[in-house]
This record gives sequence, C-alpha cells and structure tokens, in this order.
Amino acid sequence: MHSSVIGKIEKANRYARELDRITIEGLSVTFRGDNDTHRVALAADRWQCNCHYFDSWKTCAHVLAMQKILGQMLTEQAQTSFFGAPEEAQVAEAQVAEAAPA
Ligand SMILES: [Zn+2]
Repeated sequence: MHSSVIGKIEKANRYARELDRITIEGLSVTFRGDNDTHRVALAADRWQCNCHYFDSWKTCAHVLAMQKILGQMLTEQAQTSFFGAPEEAQVAEAQVAEAAPA
C-alpha cells in the first residue's frame, strides 16, 4: 500500500480514539425501542423524539441513550436533559451545603 495511504489510516485510527475532536451539531436516527420505533433528532442543541413521553417531559429514554452513546461529542447543552443534568445536580448540592449549619 502507498505510504501516504498508510499514514491516513493511522491518523484516522488515532482520530477515532480522540473523540474530543468531534462535535456533533445535528443528527437524525431511527431508534428501535422495546415497544415501538421512534425518530430521534438533534438540531441546534435541541433534541426531538416522537415518543409520547418526550411530548410531556422534553426528554425520554431514547434521548438519554443517545446522550450516553455520544457523550463528549455533543455540545454541553446537548449533553444535558431536563432530569439528570449535571449542572442542576451541582446547584442542588451547593444549596444543601449552604443550608447546612457550619
Ligand atoms: Zn423518545
């Protein structure tokens, strides 16, 4: 194989391990859940899912699963959800610490 091709493959292998190089700005997937198949999409840091749970809560098991899979490749905003958002947990902990007597 040509040496420049080998160099590109080696670089690709290294890039594939360095996920912080990648920011996913948008995507669209078909998600086969236990009960039904759903359309999950990300655009402008906003998730969408066509499941009923998402209608009420603006997040769901499908979005949470995508956030787990894609992790650091998502923007900070796209990594967080209505529940389980790390910032909200830290704020809650800080409030508890402030309320506790010294
Ligand atoms: Zn969903």
